[in-house]
Amino acid sequence: MFRAIVVDEGVPAEIREVDDDFLKPGDVTIDVEYSSINYKDGLALAGNRGVVRTFPIIPGIDLVGTVTASDSPRFSPGDRVVLNGDGIGERLFGGLAERARVRSDALVLLPEGLSAQRAAAIGTAGFTAMIGVLAIERAGIRSSAGDVLVTGAAGGVGSVAIALLAARGYAVTASSGRADVEGDYLHRLGASAIIDRAELAEPGKPLQSQRWAAAIDSVGSTTLANVLAQTNYGGLVVSCGLAQGADLPTTVMPFVLRAVTLTGANSVDAPLALREEAWAALAQALDGELLDSMTTTVSLAEALEAGPGILAGKVRGRTVVDVRR
Ligand code: NDP
Repeated sequence: MFRAIVVDEGVPAEIREVDDDFLKPGDVTIDVEYSSINYKDGLALAGNRGVVRTFPIIPGIDLVGTVTASDSPRFSPGDRVVLNGDGIGERLFGGLAERARVRSDALVLLPEGLSAQRAAAIGTAGFTAMIGVLAIERAGIRSSAGDVLVTGAAGGVGSVAIALLAARGYAVTASSGRADVEGDYLHRLGASAIIDRAELAEPGKPLQSQRWAAAIDSVGSTTLANVLAQTNYGGLVVSCGLAQGADLPTTVMPFVLRAVTLTGANSVDAPLALREEAWAALAQALDGELLDSMTTTVSLAEALEAGPGILAGKVRGRTVVDVRR
């Protein structure tokens, strides 16, 4: 028997004692050590049908742990592994449990030197931020090109994006609704300037003064439209979230007059090669102590309370779940 958070239709999320028969089919079984709480986990813990595709479900879109059994030639018992997305915590059972059985297609070996707890602190949020940073680099936008904007700055994706960009020498401007209380935190992560997110929240002109060489946006809606309108000629905007809304009330002007590129980041279906590239880069690029400073660790029972907190926009940085606690 092992403990798992289970969400059933119409029933609040709860901790249950279950056995291996409860798990879904998969070719790798893992003793989970850590999971984390992303915005999507907050929705799953609340039983949101947009995220949870099948009931009952074990939520948790991230897991880090040790392989105990494997039918995959890529993995052996004792391997330390990390999994983000690929349907876990949505239509497949996820990481908020002491054990998981998963398909190995998207499973990545934990990079040498990276602890399980720090890998969970990175989690889907950090993995997504890294996909965004890689996209900026692939577009050839160097630190000399100008300021890079990060929206949703004090959240999970935003916090890791700031740290990664600053470590690569970019001048980062953080857009946050919590600049008053989280200003020091954002500067410690590496932001050189902070703006109030209210500046970007209301509908604006299709083209505005050029301010950003690139941007990583986890907010969407009118914020993303304003970011596009303020992006420099030839700049790149990475859309990875919808904290303000899924709409995008923009015009073609940033594209046809400023040759701005809008691209997306998707962690759930990322191919294995991108996962391995991003995790290798994350292990190398992220300062462990800086990562610790943006991380709060909670027990499995406390994870139940962390869900509403992230939905209310009250969580700072990353929340790791020590599932064995
Ligand atoms: P968090 O809740 O940790 O961060 C979101 C941040 O957005 C908040 O901390 C807040 O930052 C800001 N925010 C919240 N509400 C609003 C609002 N109404 N208007 C403007 N800003 C707002 O979530 P995550 O970092 O885990 O995820 C961020 C977004 O990215 C989510 O929409 C999530 O679904 C998406 N996502 C997408 C992934 C992908 O694969 N594409 C992967 C991971 C996440 P502040 O207080 O600083 O303003």
